[in-house]
Amino acid sequence: MEYEAVIGLETHVQLKTRSKMWCGCANAFGSDPNTNVCPICLGMPGVLPVANDEALRLTVLTGYLLNCEIPRFAKFDRKNYFYPDSAKNYQVTQYDRPSTANGWVEFEFDGPGSVDGVARVRITRAHLEEDVGKSSHFDRHSGVDFNRAGVPLLEIVSEPDLNGPEMAYAYLKALTDILHRGGISDCDLEKGMVRCDVNVSVRPKGTATLGSKIEIKNMNSFSGVRRALEYEIPRQIEAVRRGEKLRQETRRWDDAAGITEAMRSKEDAHDYRYFPEPDLMPFAPTDAWLEEVRSLVVELPLQRKRRLIRDYGIPAGDAEVLCDHLELGRFFESAAAGVRNPKAIANLVINNLQARLAESGTGLEELKFGPAGLRELVELVESGRINSKIAQDVFAEMYATGETPSAVVERKGWVQVSDTGAIEGFCDAAIAGNPGSVADFRAGKASALNFLKGQVMKLSKGKANPGLVGEILERKLRS
Ligand code: ADP
Ligand code: MG
Ligand code: ZN
Repeated sequence: MEYEAVIGLETHVQLKTRSKMWCGCANAFGSDPNTNVCPICLGMPGVLPVANDEALRLTVLTGYLLNCEIPRFAKFDRKNYFYPDSAKNYQVTQYDRPSTANGWVEFEFDGPGSVDGVARVRITRAHLEEDVGKSSHFDRHSGVDFNRAGVPLLEIVSEPDLNGPEMAYAYLKALTDILHRGGISDCDLEKGMVRCDVNVSVRPKGTATLGSKIEIKNMNSFSGVRRALEYEIPRQIEAVRRGEKLRQETRRWDDAAGITEAMRSKEDAHDYRYFPEPDLMPFAPTDAWLEEVRSLVVELPLQRKRRLIRDYGIPAGDAEVLCDHLELGRFFESAAAGVRNPKAIANLVINNLQARLAESGTGLEELKFGPAGLRELVELVESGRINSKIAQDVFAEMYATGETPSAVVERKGWVQVSDTGAIEGFCDAAIAGNPGSVADFRAGKASALNFLKGQVMKLSKGKANPGLVGEILERKLRS
């Protein structure tokens, strides 16, 4: 019997706010331990939390970015548990009335579960909660740093729509790209801003009932998630094949050993004794507030790529580069607006501009010419005033001096030679000077023609119209 994996991810992402969720302490990474703390985030008795408006906005904005419904009523709940890095002995979260629900993410993925290279994963909910402190264990003692306690944390729960390690990896990559692009979070994994619980079960291929869910807690890298699944899925399949009954449990990923190991049997919701947080009002956004947040929605990477392909007729590879480099993409769009051949603009932006900027290690803000310069350069080639080889040299001059392309062409005398008389002269000279190649060509060696063309271009100092050179040269050689 064949088995398949069923995977759902709970992804925790730190929100990019200035202050923490319930107090005015800085939401900052890398400060000295326990310097960004106050009685509220240290969980002192009797203190009162005040919800951070910026965090509420980013939560609802995430909802919009992930195609979620935004309920008109949400609330906060206490999830009770003891843990040394949580001084309050509870975490404030959203239990049964989250701020966003029932969304989906689409992302590029080639493999089972995708259609035309795109996969869709449903989002159960994205709810707002608070991060906890961080324990460190030393030789003879342990310490807790509460700087992270109370940092706003979004938990994004997916439906069990993922089917393997690669799909999970692609989903996480796409999700964090969206959140990063949307200004929700810096999603810096090195700084622990994204952590993920991986839920995975197996079942006979094609059946509908879900198997027992195993949760691998607290993964902090996407490659770690992929490796853990590459280990865990075959482990479960082998166990089921042996006739073992898998039970719901929580496991830990040992990155060094490359294995998962049992931590504890999974607790149920009632173990946490959730109840409504008595110190906070429910959250019931007004129309005006929601509209304001909605206006902050930006175009997402995949939408943008599709639009560039559709509106400019450029290849997917080009669109991808122009999406990955947002500024370059904007420059492309302002240069390509309304032109007949956007692909020519894309070529200049990707092959010339991007390469030069990378070479000199500078950004677009230091560029000496604007989008109109590129447009003019393409027009010069299309009208036949210069050939595309010379266009490369013109670009280099524009880049160095900021001159307009026509000024460069004027100054350098690079106007394309389309005068057939002049080209005939260059062709005659090339034929007379290279009897060996002429003989080769007549003996049927096609590559000799390219060599002779090159000679003609050289004699014209690169300015001859290459199309005309080809025609005239071949006619002369064949006669
Ligand atoms: P819990 O209350 O234990 O956190 P949930 O039902 O809320 O469990 O699900 C948590 C995550 O586990 C979700 O991402 C969900 O898609 C996923 N999940 C639920 N059941 C399964 C299953 N049988 N196999 C794999 N993933 C599952
Ligand atoms: Mg869970
Ligand atoms: Zn504080």
